[in-house]
Amino acid sequence: MPNAKPIAQQTLLTHDQRHEQGAVTPPIYQSSLFTFSDYDSMIARFRGESDQPLYSRVDNPTVKALQDKVAALEGGDACLAFASGMAAISNAILSVVQPGAKVVCVNHVYPDTYRFLRGFCQRFGITTQFVDGDDEAAMAAALPGASLLYLESPSSWVMSEQNLRQLATLARDAGVVTLIDNSWASPIFQQPLLYGIDIVVHSASKYISGHSDVVAGLVIASHQHINNIARHISPFLGGKLSANEASLLMRGLRTLPLRMKQHQQSALQLAEKLRDHPQVSAVCHPGLNPPEWSTLRGYSGLFSFAVTEQVDIPQFCNALQLFHMGVSWGGFESLVMPAISVINQASEFNSAQDFGVSPRLIRISVGLEETDDLWTDLNQALAAATHR
Ligand SMILES: *Cc1c(COP(=O)(O)O)cnc(C)c1O
Repeated sequence: MPNAKPIAQQTLLTHDQRHEQGAVTPPIYQSSLFTFSDYDSMIARFRGESDQPLYSRVDNPTVKALQDKVAALEGGDACLAFASGMAAISNAILSVVQPGAKVVCVNHVYPDTYRFLRGFCQRFGITTQFVDGDDEAAMAAALPGASLLYLESPSSWVMSEQNLRQLATLARDAGVVTLIDNSWASPIFQQPLLYGIDIVVHSASKYISGHSDVVAGLVIASHQHINNIARHISPFLGGKLSANEASLLMRGLRTLPLRMKQHQQSALQLAEKLRDHPQVSAVCHPGLNPPEWSTLRGYSGLFSFAVTEQVDIPQFCNALQLFHMGVSWGGFESLVMPAISVINQASEFNSAQDFGVSPRLIRISVGLEETDDLWTDLNQALAAATHR
């Protein structure tokens, strides 16, 4: 066909070829182990001369199908899937650092990543310096001698974006491995490997699952980094994904591009309306004032806003009808979470306190309900909670 348009990359990557028996979805291999037809094939597998599946802690075929799709979506060589985002993050970090290593990490990382670095890693003599992601001079000064630069862009709570091209170059020049938590944007809106970042991690519990029914994590990188994790870290920490969860994530991938478009549209509309609301003093949404170096191709549905002193935050939360109060994000249902909840959290290494998150801040995950209904809900709850 002379003028045929090429099939969109995202269609190719989320579409399935025919499987066994003509099935349109990948089969769920609900099996802990895989047997061998004869002696020689078993010996060959143990010699590393074949890649026949062996045991689901290491290589389940359903999980492998998911990993291949995600590696392609992120533009990486390979992917490993884990039982949670934190399993992906801890495996990836531990694959880079040695005892005595120094990590440089951006401010406002996910709270459990912060605790992992400050608590767990510190026990093994791994120290972390936290740096403002916008401060190029501070980054350049911190990197020499470090093993790992840990990024999360946009970051938790304040949604601040980092200049990935610039930081990847700075780190490479200093011989530092770069790792980014890309959960917020999903591979649809940001592909950090394109800009020279070495390792991408996702909490697939968020947009990739998309339905708040799975806890899972992903690491995407070069064959070298992935083989290092698969040989030296993940078999022993053991937190691999199950076949059933992998199947749910592949279901999520099929609608990921569509869902992300809708999250983007709704959240941008709500962010603009909130910015113009008299009781809102600030809106943290990366799409409102994007820097010219931004590597985001679009914006997801998670952002935060600060309310004035006239707004009673407990009353605001209780007055919401459609928004549920809850942690996590990226699913169908819209969620609200006041920063006070994490500022007052009883836990050591409290990132919200240490990074100075404002107690006036409220985070919302804009779901897939009608945008007008969501605005009506926010607007009425703000009115109900405002006292002059
Ligand atoms: C939720 C989250 C994580 C942790 O993922 P789990 O799947 O809950 O383990 C990591 N990073 C970010 C940015 C998150 O929001």
